[in-house]
Amino acid sequence: MDSSYQARRFQISCPDSDVIEKILLQAYKHRVLMQVFEEHLITCSRCRKTVDRIRIYYEILEAEMKKPVSATVIKFADSLSLGRKKS
Ligand SMILES: [Zn+2]
Repeated sequence: MDSSYQARRFQISCPDSDVIEKILLQAYKHRVLMQVFEEHLITCSRCRKTVDRIRIYYEILEAEMKKPVSATVIKFADSLSLGRKKS
């Protein structure tokens, strides 16, 4: 991702949700891009809603990851990995 190119684009239009997710997940790598996106967020309710949806998704994912896994699910996952080893 060319950060300076992306930064110029955000000043004009909204990034796609997958790009927003990438910016948030890699904020430590693309500090200037994150800063430009944060400035964009101040005036863009559409992107704030997208950020909220991404945050909710990761909260649900984190909660699901903490739940115990049933023996049926483990057996199913094992059957998938065994199937992969054969091919
Ligand atoms: Zn926007």
